[in-house]
Amino acid sequence: MTKRASPPDQEHVTAHGSADGGAFRHVSSARLPTAWGEFTLHAFENAAGQEHVALTVGNVTHESGSNEQEKVTAPVLSRIHSECLTGDALFSLRCDCGAQLQRAMQQLAEAGRGILFYLRQEGRGIGLVNKVRAYHLQDAGADTVEANQHLGFDADLRSYDAVADICRHFGITQLALMTNNPAKVEALQRLGIQVPVRLPIEIQANTHNRNYLQTKADKMRHLLQTVPKPPR
Ligand SMILES: [Zn+2]
Repeated sequence: MTKRASPPDQEHVTAHGSADGGAFRHVSSARLPTAWGEFTLHAFENAAGQEHVALTVGNVTHESGSNEQEKVTAPVLSRIHSECLTGDALFSLRCDCGAQLQRAMQQLAEAGRGILFYLRQEGRGIGLVNKVRAYHLQDAGADTVEANQHLGFDADLRSYDAVADICRHFGITQLALMTNNPAKVEALQRLGIQVPVRLPIEIQANTHNRNYLQTKADKMRHLLQTVPKPPR
């Protein structure tokens, strides 16, 4: 990946060492009004030029302010969402990503305090074009894990290093995380982020994503009440 040119507003850039050893920096922030309420959109970039964003609402820091009474200790309501162009922007029913993203944004707006980490790692880390290749294999009968493996990838290549970097930027130490994926909680704890609360975020299965959700429950340890375990 190529390095990108420095942005013009250098005075707003704060850089520090990242979880993966490279420089990670906050580049800029702006208002983001949405259907569910107003968020602040924060843009970040790592040393390799990879871009991520976070949406915040309310005060998310755990660091003490000038007044000790202002210090907030409750875990920050959060969702870590990995980019899914087909689900997030193209209304695909092959997965549950778009519906999960919308529900998370709605719940964050209603809570009035929280953060959405939006990580640019499409297709569980294999990229958009390879995800279409994987969908082609799934159209011929492979499941989502088998398809990635047919293409020479592990079932899940996602990294959560950027979450640790963004938490460090905001002074966040504890998350109340909306997720069905225990591996995500374990990965964060290895990066030093405490996750004392896990909140399920289940979307009702449809005819197009039922097998996909079943595979996530069977092969990726996702905790899904709405997907029945098959008899074994
Ligand atoms: Zn998706």
